Amino acid sequence: MEIKSIINKAVQENELSKNEIVKLLQIEEEEILEYLYQQADKVRKKYHGDDVHLRGIIEFSSYCKRDCYYCGLRKGNNVLKRYQLKTEDIITQALEGVKLGYKTIVLQSGEDDYDAEKIAYIVKEIKAKADTAITLCVGERSFDDYRLWKEAGADRYLLKHETADKDLYQRLHPGMKYEDRIERLIFLKELGFQTGSGNIIGLPGQSQESLAEDILLFKELKMDMIGIGPFIPHQETPLKDENKGTVEMTLKVLAITRLLLPLSHLPATTALGSIDNYGRQKALQAGANVVMPNITASKYRSRYEIYPAKICIEEKAADCRQCIGGIINSLGRIVAIDRGDSLYI
Ligand code: SAH
Repeated sequence: MEIKSIINKAVQENELSKNEIVKLLQIEEEEILEYLYQQADKVRKKYHGDDVHLRGIIEFSSYCKRDCYYCGLRKGNNVLKRYQLKTEDIITQALEGVKLGYKTIVLQSGEDDYDAEKIAYIVKEIKAKADTAITLCVGERSFDDYRLWKEAGADRYLLKHETADKDLYQRLHPGMKYEDRIERLIFLKELGFQTGSGNIIGLPGQSQESLAEDILLFKELKMDMIGIGPFIPHQETPLKDENKGTVEMTLKVLAITRLLLPLSHLPATTALGSIDNYGRQKALQAGANVVMPNITASKYRSRYEIYPAKICIEEKAADCRQCIGGIINSLGRIVAIDRGDSLYI
């Protein structure tokens, strides 16, 4: 009963202490877990209705200068055949995505130092030719680059903090600093980007306390979007023999995040769909209100291998649009017709 009262308090006040969050993360009883998911689903419905926003992702380059321990794109992976799409191809694919009905195009890549002016040009061209929101997800760049892209018309920026455990962050991201990441998230938001963060669930050495801190950090930073996905070990990384994150812990973190941040956009992540055939459906019923289908040209998809067994590697953009529409309708939900901008503005 005590646990249910913590859930009820979160529903009413959208606030919990770190200890209370940890207690919810420790729920094992099936009935109480169901209660948590149901309450998150109710909060989602109250603030977002039945709309599910689709964000079409173009993975435009798999080159990366970083060596993040979990990621298949890490510099140290010599097996991966890398690619980088040409400027005009990115614009063409984005416009095709808009034709398929996507109201948001996400441009994502490894950290390959893709020329900042080129990215600005791509943003301007897409904006001039189509009515769509543009989200950039290209990692840590200079403040000047971020400013340039904002001025070019980019609407949103995604930069997951990955883990709020500073020591763990340091260990998993050689040569990078946790503070740099947080500083950028704050700067991006100040610049006027609708800003997204997120974490990875089940990283080796990650504690429940630090997962609670992740959620409190989302709240402190008032993140417009929050991507919560399970860790999936990749063969060509130092973490290849570690266990993957669980569906259950991912759903718990997602549901608690929904209770504490009712206004934020929460995707049912592709990573969750990759470890469980119904992962995205489960997430959509535990607080999520966004899906991010891949719209990268098919021939490149298998080469953007952040983690193995990623779903939708063979499909074409149009197939994914149809498939995901079917999934959403089967849950009694609808594909949103608006852009799904931040509800904080
Ligand atoms: N370079 C960009 C895009 C990174 S890929 C950036 O830094 O923002 C997008 C996300 O994939 C990452 O933020 C990370 O959370 C996730 N990811 C990478 N490797 C993963 C793995 N092995 N398992 C689960 N998620 C992973």
